Amino acid sequence: REAARSRPPPGDAHRIAAVQTFARPRAPGFDYLIVGAGFAGAVLAERLAVGLGKRVLVTDRRPHIGGNAFDHHDDAGLLVHRYGPHIFHTNSDAVLAYLSRFTKWRDYEHRVLASVDGKLVPVPINLTTLNTLYDLDLTPDTAAAFLASRALPIAEPRNAEEMVLSQVGRELYEKFFKGYTTKQWGTSPARLDRSVTARVPARTGTDDRYFLDRHQCMPLHGYTRMFENLLDHPNIRLMLNTDFEDIRHELRYGHLIYTGPVDAFFGYRFGQLPYRSLRFEHETLDREWLQPVAVVNHPSPEVQYTRITEYKHLTGQQHRRTSITREYPSATGDPYYPVPRPENAALYERYRALADRRHDVTFVGRLATYRYYNMDQVVAQALATYHRIEQMETGRVL
Ligand code: FAD
Ligand code: UDP
Repeated sequence: REAARSRPPPGDAHRIAAVQTFARPRAPGFDYLIVGAGFAGAVLAERLAVGLGKRVLVTDRRPHIGGNAFDHHDDAGLLVHRYGPHIFHTNSDAVLAYLSRFTKWRDYEHRVLASVDGKLVPVPINLTTLNTLYDLDLTPDTAAAFLASRALPIAEPRNAEEMVLSQVGRELYEKFFKGYTTKQWGTSPARLDRSVTARVPARTGTDDRYFLDRHQCMPLHGYTRMFENLLDHPNIRLMLNTDFEDIRHELRYGHLIYTGPVDAFFGYRFGQLPYRSLRFEHETLDREWLQPVAVVNHPSPEVQYTRITEYKHLTGQQHRRTSITREYPSATGDPYYPVPRPENAALYERYRALADRRHDVTFVGRLATYRYYNMDQVVAQALATYHRIEQMETGRVL
């Protein structure tokens, strides 16, 4: 540590301050306070405790660990996800290898159907979707020609609406995307970044998997069990039902890792960052199955929910009853989705400038960095953050 302090990289004031913050003498209390027990917080807690021997306190305002990936057994004994369906998929060998230390996996490839024109058809739109919807007998080649003849000539789509129009044209856009996206985000697709609908690109083959990632699986005993294993270490203490705001001036700790909403951390100084919320309607049905796949999307503006999830498809659980969740988008409630659009990115940049100046705090995760990240991306971000901290702590220069 002394070496770290006396040999900072020349001319880099930002780094010097950071090294001093990280390398200061062991204070009484905890070395690290981590706000949030989701993927970002739990991965960093595990790494700091195991990798660096740090004493870590993890706090979450909810009564459970796991963040939005939390799952539990409901009254009927069915394993359900409290905050909507969470399917693990990644192209990162490193992320999979890391999480595999804390869980075994169940093979699962996600398939989604959409309820359109009274039929259940695959999403993303593919060859089967077109043939079923229009009663055609297209091949991959003729399907590509079919879509090309309908796609609008937009070379550089500027938003989520143009993104779809440039791929499949107006009719399919209206059937599959317009209603769903307007419900989900509470605004016109034309007012969202194109990255939103680019998550679900059309295809011309018969591959009907929702994700094409190399690794697709579900934690064998659920996400919460995996989080229990991540956090099971004598150096990690957990404090649930505790809002950071209520303790931020009470506790002594060396460094803060914050995974909550960044605008809340700074007292909404520049105004609220928009987040989209959901209301989850959970129900257990007295029948064995409701639908043929785990998720059925409902793009129609006639129904208020966006999708129905039936968990047994995800978990492989056998049960004579079945539990489902309907998702109703909402402007109020817990912050689930950062809303990707240019003015929000600009507002976030103002918060980020504040965050960058706080050498005593590290901001990480979907809410603290205002990114529409999947679980694997948050794990990768947390592991990268850990490597930076490790370098600071040990005084190793990059
Ligand atoms: P979170 O999981 O949000 O954890 C943050 C934690 O911080 C929360 O538990 C919160 O209670 C706590 N917190 C916040 N503020 C405070 C405070 N002031 N004091 C104390 N605690 C605080 N990703 C996928 O890869 N596949 C999917 O299928 C998938 N499906 C999703 C479906 C839905 C409906 C949603 C909303 C997200 C989905 N995701 C999916 C994304 C996934 O949930 C996130 O990438 C991941 O959970 C983010 O982890 P995190 O730790 O950054 O944040
Ligand atoms: N989307 C849509 N219709 C669909 C599926 C997705 O309009 O049938 C749009 C919608 O805007 C959604 C976005 O594509 O928010 C991304 O979909 P994804 O399934 O990745 O959403 P998530 O699982 O993150 O809620």
